[in-house]
Amino acid sequence: MIPAVTLNSGAAMPIVGLGTWRADQGKVIEAVKLAVSAGYRHFDGALVYQNEEEVGAGIGAVIDQGMVKREDLFITSKLWCTFHLPSLVRKGCEKTLSDLRLDYLDLYLMHFPMGSQPGDNLFPLDEHNQVIPDGSNFLDTWEAMEELVDAGLVKAIGVSNFNRDQIEAVLNKPGLKYKPANNQIECHPYLTQEKLIGYCHSKGISVTAYSPLGSPDRPWALPDELTLLDEPQIEAIAKKYHKTPAQVLIRFHTQRNVIVIAKSVTPHRIKENLQLFDFELSEEDMQTMLSMNKNWRGFPQLWASKHKDYPLNTEY
Ligand code: NDP
Repeated sequence: MIPAVTLNSGAAMPIVGLGTWRADQGKVIEAVKLAVSAGYRHFDGALVYQNEEEVGAGIGAVIDQGMVKREDLFITSKLWCTFHLPSLVRKGCEKTLSDLRLDYLDLYLMHFPMGSQPGDNLFPLDEHNQVIPDGSNFLDTWEAMEELVDAGLVKAIGVSNFNRDQIEAVLNKPGLKYKPANNQIECHPYLTQEKLIGYCHSKGISVTAYSPLGSPDRPWALPDELTLLDEPQIEAIAKKYHKTPAQVLIRFHTQRNVIVIAKSVTPHRIKENLQLFDFELSEEDMQTMLSMNKNWRGFPQLWASKHKDYPLNTEY
């Protein structure tokens, strides 16, 4: 049984889940099935990953085969930016639910604070390769997401890629009905996010770390960039515990009470990435990993850097 973090909604969210971004459509059904048999109960997806039908087929298969019940699973998805206008929020959520073939989500996140021009193009860009805004305000989008909870389509709502001021704006919104249950952000030893995590936890908002392995297969990675998985300090720590660098990088989050969602479609890695609960990183090793911070981002979100709600212009 994977330890869980209790959300401010009261729900238990398994502290380790499987990411599904860039999980090939041809591989993700098997990956979900294998993950469930390996013990995963938490899956992280999004409309923009364009593979929710296949993730849903995997989930459907494990339920139909009696391996788990729906209520044993924790399924997260995300509202894409082109659905931020309040009149479109339910449509975005219903598309995800229908693709996943589910009646409800356990957690629904606003993928980014920035709303963008609605339409079939998920990345509407202008001639400078900047996202075309939709004029929406994320507080209005949040209100429309609150209605999804009341309608029973989602059990809890949260945000992703929000900075401190943006979270504070939600918390201070007049008439706020539900506080964000979670903020999903990039986090790993090169971007330790101590201030933002401290702030979220102080407000009762759980944090999920995305790209815990540094997202080595992100398409814009430079060929000569040092990756976290090959980082000598991480390799040395891993060796000490007879673990792999990936296991050390994932375990780093659970010891901070941070939920973590590494992605893999490779059977042995899916299993490896959950074998985390038979060792504990020492305080010294945790400090070594924290000291590797260099505020490096695999996801600087440059496509939206001119948007009024771009989140990465502030310290945290
Ligand atoms: P990760 O840091 O999880 O890295 C995934 C890559 O690492 C894949 O290429 C995978 O390969 C490889 N890998 C996985 N396990 C191992 C292992 N044990 N040893 C060596 N290599 C390994 O990157 P992601 O960017 O995918 O982040 C994880 C998840 O976070 C996403 O899938 C998504 O769900 C979420 N996310 C959310 C974002 C947001 O804006 N909210 C942004 C980015 C990610 P392979 O699959 O071939 O095994």
